[in-house]
Parts: sequence; structure tokens; C-alpha cells
Amino acid sequence: AISFEKLNKYYGDHHALRDVTLDVDHGETLVICGPSGSGKSTLIRCVNGLEAYADGALSVLGHSVGDDERELEAVRKRVGMVFQSFNLFPHLTVLENCVLPQVRGIKRSRTEATQIAMGQLGRVRVAEHAHKFPDQISGGQKQRVALARSLSLDPDIMLFDEPTSALDPEMISEVLDVMQELTRGNMTIICVTHEMGFARAVADKVILMVDGAIVEQGDPEQMFTVPKHPITQDFMKAVA
Ligand code: ATP
Ligand code: MG
Repeated sequence: AISFEKLNKYYGDHHALRDVTLDVDHGETLVICGPSGSGKSTLIRCVNGLEAYADGALSVLGHSVGDDERELEAVRKRVGMVFQSFNLFPHLTVLENCVLPQVRGIKRSRTEATQIAMGQLGRVRVAEHAHKFPDQISGGQKQRVALARSLSLDPDIMLFDEPTSALDPEMISEVLDVMQELTRGNMTIICVTHEMGFARAVADKVILMVDGAIVEQGDPEQMFTVPKHPITQDFMKAVA
């Protein structure tokens, strides 16, 4: 579904992605680990064209992600993203936050959009808060609304960039639980997270990034129990 080939990216003189080669198959869940500044967000943001790259190739769902605006638009329609911050519109209700992108973005009728939004809000267990405003619900609930909003647009791929790192500890598991349910379906998922228990439970593949490069990739059992690379060993010890 997603294929990086020898991708390089620079911010000025900083070499942010170094010869990144990576495949994520349809329906797979990839977890990205690595220290701060190693290029995790940069890598994930390349997938929907939020970051441009210098050289190499990137293909997403058969579209080449590069300079061609039409290809980019086709990719963006099929890729959802949830970040650390919730980015809900404060002046719109929970329901309207999920309805509006459908009506504006993919031209659904309000009736259909409302039905779909309510279905997704139910799926992430916040349907009873549909008529509240974002500042009337908890952080964990807000993040689940952000997820429902993305899912309402029927993405084939979901990108998660540390979706629980801004949450109070007691709210983390309610978000991870709905994400875990999502990984059991046939969606393709890339997730940056420091929640190693979660990573181990859901990942089909784990990569460790250091200084812009993938230093190790493998299945979670191998990465967590017998990491090969010394940096992976240190990293796994540090987060264990
Ligand atoms: P964190 O765990 O802190 O979120 P990360 O692994 O997601 O880190 P990135 O945000 O991808 O790291 O950043 C990789 C490197 O590129 C860092 O050194 C960062 O300072 C640099 N960088 C990121 N965005 C920019 C930018 N817009 N301009 C210049 N440098 C940037
Ligand atoms: Mg980041």
C-alpha cells in the first residue's frame, strides 16, 4: 500500500531522512519508534505530502507522491491523520466537527454525513457527547472525536503521530483501545508511539529510526525480545 524507496529529505543542511526504504502492505500496522528528532514525524508527514522530499520515490496506494498536485490530492482523500493535538473546531459541536469535513470535503449530503458521523462516534464510544462542544469533554474523548472525524471520511490509510502523548495518563488507554480495534480491520496504519505495550500488541512491523535512518526493522517479537542493533537494545531497555 505504501512504498518508500531511498527517500532523502533535508531541512536546510539538516539531513532529516536518510535513504529510507520501507514497505507497508495493505492492512498492515507499522509502528515507528526512535528518539526525539530522529525523523519519525517527518517520515509520516511525507505519506500525505505534508513534507516534500529531495530524492528517492514514494508511492501510496498506487499514486506517486511528489510534485504532481492531482496525484497528491488523490492520496490525501484516502489518508487520514491524527496528531498529538486534537485540532477540533472549538465553535462547532462534536457532531458538527465530524459532519462538516464530509459535506465540504467529499460533498456528502448533510443527512448522510450525519448518519456516518454518528456511526463513527459510536464506534469510538463518544456518541453520547455528540451535541457537546470540544471544551466540554475530556482530552481522551477529544482525541477519540478526532479519530471519528478522520474515519468519517473513509480513509484506506491512517497516520497517527503520538496520538496519546498529550493526554493525562488515565486517558491514554481509552484512546489506545479504540486504536487497537482499528488495527484488527483491514486499514493500513502507521503509528508513531512511545507506548511500547501497545506497539507490541498491535504492530505487524516495527522500525527504529535514529538520526533520519531506519537502523532496524522487523516483527515486534524480534524487535522487542532480541533486538539486533545496539541502539535498538538501548532504546528498548530505556522504554521497557
Ligand atoms: P519527536 O519525537 O520529538 O517528535 P521526530 O522523530 O518526530 O521527533 P522530526 O520532527 O521528524 O523528529 O524532526 C527530525 C529533525 O528535523 C529534527 O532534528 C528537527 O529539529 C528537524 N526539523 C523538523 N521539522 C523541521 C522544520 N520545519 N525546519 C527545520 N528543521 C526541522
Ligand atoms: Mg515527532
